[in-house]
Amino acid sequence: MKLIFLGAPGAGKGTIATIISKKLNIPHISTGEILRNEIKEKTLLGLKIEKQIAEGKFASDYNMIEIVKKRISQSDAKNGFILDGFPRTSKQAEELQNIAKLDAVINLVADDETLIKRLLGRRSCPECKKEYNMATSMITKSGKEICDICNVPLSKRADDNEQAIRTRQEIYNKETKILIDFYKKKGILKEVNGEGNPEIITERVMKVL
Ligand code: AMP
Repeated sequence: MKLIFLGAPGAGKGTIATIISKKLNIPHISTGEILRNEIKEKTLLGLKIEKQIAEGKFASDYNMIEIVKKRISQSDAKNGFILDGFPRTSKQAEELQNIAKLDAVINLVADDETLIKRLLGRRSCPECKKEYNMATSMITKSGKEICDICNVPLSKRADDNEQAIRTRQEIYNKETKILIDFYKKKGILKEVNGEGNPEIITERVMKVL
């Protein structure tokens, strides 16, 4: 099954895509995660995009299309994949049409207050990579910003600050929101209520699939 997760920053794309990818046994491809790795590894691309990503701005369509083309041509993606965070522009969506036939596009919908709360509460463990959210049911067991498993302080994404969040929301409204209509017209868009805990949202997604 070839799926896309759409939705505003904080809608839960990454969290739900991770769960669904295990259920369906298809890779979860997060373009944001790929870029964060490029930055961490200090590759040429990583060095070039670090500042713009931290400010909440997009990487170029050219770079993103190349990254996705390469990733979905790998053998583990032969029978399907979940794209999380791609496409984000009309150009990316048009290019994707030439390289993959999608089965469904999940649009996770949550209200603005929920989105901001989730983005500001988001943390992860720098060692085991477990994701937490100090503002939702995904909080640590102790309630402190320390990983339950590794006992180390949690980290925050460089772009999860108020200024960058505002930029990400503006760019989402200007560049990405139109993709909802694009996929609606193709008859493959599934709107899913993204409010509530991950288990409930996952059930809703499985139902529409
Ligand atoms: P995400 O983890 O999906 O929130 O992505 C983090 C950041 O990576 C975004 O705010 C963008 O700056 C960048 N990014 C991820 N995917 C794309 C894409 N498809 N096009 C442009 N920039 C992207």
